[in-house]
Amino acid sequence: MIPLAIPNLSGNEARYLTECIESTFISSVGPFVDQFETTLANECGATGAVATSSGTAALHAALWASGVRRDQLVILPSMTFIASANAIAYCGAKPWLIDIEPEAWTMDPEALERALETKTEASGQHRIHIATRRRVAAIMPVYTLGTPANMDRIAEIAAHYHLPVVADAAAALGASYRSKPIAQIGANFSALSFNGNKTLTTGGGGAILARDANLLSRVRHLTTTARISRNYDHDEIGFNYRMTNLEAAVGCAQLERLDTLVAAKRRIRQTYDEAFRDLSHVAAFPSPDWAESACWFSGFIFENGKRSAIEICNELVNQGVDARPMWKPIHLQTPYAACPFEEATLSERVWSQAVTLPCSTSISDAELDQVISATRNVVS
Ligand SMILES: *Cc1c(COP(=O)(O)O)cnc(C)c1O
Repeated sequence: MIPLAIPNLSGNEARYLTECIESTFISSVGPFVDQFETTLANECGATGAVATSSGTAALHAALWASGVRRDQLVILPSMTFIASANAIAYCGAKPWLIDIEPEAWTMDPEALERALETKTEASGQHRIHIATRRRVAAIMPVYTLGTPANMDRIAEIAAHYHLPVVADAAAALGASYRSKPIAQIGANFSALSFNGNKTLTTGGGGAILARDANLLSRVRHLTTTARISRNYDHDEIGFNYRMTNLEAAVGCAQLERLDTLVAAKRRIRQTYDEAFRDLSHVAAFPSPDWAESACWFSGFIFENGKRSAIEICNELVNQGVDARPMWKPIHLQTPYAACPFEEATLSERVWSQAVTLPCSTSISDAELDQVISATRNVVS
């Protein structure tokens, strides 16, 4: 079976891990954590970065630091991985689900504006969701498959309604928006993931990026048990979300090859797009004019209504190709079925039609050919 997305560990990963073992710095203090944070911040145009134990933990801490609390709402596109919604739920809040737009499959600014304009009212400084009387606490765009959302529009709407923006940038390391790096495009916090299937991995891990130094020290405090001195003194309920030096060692080795890894992802996207261009009923993943995507995942949209993406994936798996559908929209997921949601037609269509294909950065040309011919067989 050609795997969907596996780690590429052909650099200094083993060497740096050995350094950790030999120096005994294997836990949450160590030189690789500091180096990883500094390099990441530079790559993303942030003032600083706080490395965490997962992308979900990064999102949770960023939402908490943005003031999201019990019984509030966070506006989220329904087409996302369940972790985005879970991070909101960990704050005691609920997602308010809206649709994506067709150009990048990211949060639709028109839907966002319409929801805030027609479904909320002012109450002092705050916006209240009229139907549930819950306060709207934040906006959470998702950089779907590594493509930044249309952040100029989203930031404008957020500013108008005085709402903080926490971006789920989980797979967007290496992307840019109107030539700007991802930490400079309008979110107060951006959260990255380094899970095993991401372009850059630390095994498991994440990071919070920000430009505001106060926000950064706030999340650093929260992710390290809110400790105020060496004498076990803590001033609030914090989280044990710090990345370990072992994970950061792998991350530092991966960062040395970030450009190569992202270039490989973009080449895979282009290869599939070109290979399927002549097929009727098959369309490429979207590519907006506002962003250069990090192209985390690649694949195609199958527009022949006779078979669903899940059926196409099953046929591809039978031919040795580990294909997967897109995320099932959050409004259709059991734990979030009762959350407020706006019409999400496009989210549902992408879920039923999009197929993601093997896209490991180490995939060979022979494997790409195999995926392409299996796909051409299955869709024709
Ligand atoms: C990978 C991913 C996450 C979760 O990150 P973890 O590190 O697995 O916790 C969250 N949101 C999106 C969109 C992702 O792709």
